[in-house]
Amino acid sequence: MHDVVIIGAGPAGLSAAFWCDELGLDTLLLEKSESAGGQLHSIYNPINNYLGLTAANGAELLDRFSSGIESADFDLWTEAEIESVDVNAKRIRLRNGEEVKSIALIIATGVRRRKLGIPGEEEFAGRGIIESGARDRDKLAGKDVCIVGGGDAAAENALLLSGVCPTVTLVHRGSSLRARREFTEKLQSVHCITVFKEATVQRILGGDRVEGVEILRTQAIKPFQMAVEGVLIRIGVQPNTELIAEQLNVDERGYLLTDAHYETNVSNVFAVGDVSNPLAPTIGGATGAGATAAKVIATRLNR
Ligand code: NDP
Repeated sequence: MHDVVIIGAGPAGLSAAFWCDELGLDTLLLEKSESAGGQLHSIYNPINNYLGLTAANGAELLDRFSSGIESADFDLWTEAEIESVDVNAKRIRLRNGEEVKSIALIIATGVRRRKLGIPGEEEFAGRGIIESGARDRDKLAGKDVCIVGGGDAAAENALLLSGVCPTVTLVHRGSSLRARREFTEKLQSVHCITVFKEATVQRILGGDRVEGVEILRTQAIKPFQMAVEGVLIRIGVQPNTELIAEQLNVDERGYLLTDAHYETNVSNVFAVGDVSNPLAPTIGGATGAGATAAKVIATRLNR
């Protein structure tokens, strides 16, 4: 029996574990991957907006977080695949048959990228489907690319790749981009970027590798094909709440609903980080939420 079990070792979960340990709570942190870090593993851009710290990328920030919690004494189980969670009983069953129980539960399972679900998306993974514009920029030099999406991620990647790619085509289903003005204004001034609004990518085409996309404009009857060597899909994220969504209050997109202390509708079950923050996900917000949940739990347990 632990005081606290935390699910997910991204910035929110790591911060919660660090704070729980600081406050004398017996803490177990469960992470399904082989190492802690969560989305930090897939940030390849410099991080300049975390107060007091800068890092060349997510991996470097993770190193800093890790060295900051080196002396902490919480248990971290990696490759901990969860079979089921009973939020009322605060009982978690792992795929390996182990069972853990706690007084309080902190859910910090984060979000994952949405998929388009179109032909070619899975087939060309690693063969022309771009994982990250920042990471793969050099490899994409001289190649025409298509980016799907209209938010900050799509726009930021379009700008980044416009420096090395002869053409960048942004395909957005809506009539106006959702990306912030800083990005949309720049998009208009870069001549190699074309934005197709009210259009969808129907298929990704190719042989061994991506060779093109099939695009359908909303007003058109027939799709047209365009040759590209890379496709980047940035159509937002979805919360990792499948294990617990039926037991807790969630919004229409599956994000966990919490009060100001990050407590869900079940007493002593907290949700911190992006999994409960659809509007303003930030690394700073995630670490702050982890700290708040830990302090509330410690106060309740008289530590
Ligand atoms: P967003 O949710 O901001 O935008 C998603 C975009 O994808 C929308 O334009 C949406 O269209 C479109 N979309 C959604 N589903 C589909 C679909 N099935 N087919 C086609 N298009 C679809 O997500 P992002 O991935 O851009 O960003 C995720 C988060 O990361 C955001 O909070 C963002 O602000 C943040 N971010 C911040 C950056 C920065 O600060 N430098 C950089 C990158 C991301 P519609 O508008 O029609 O719904």
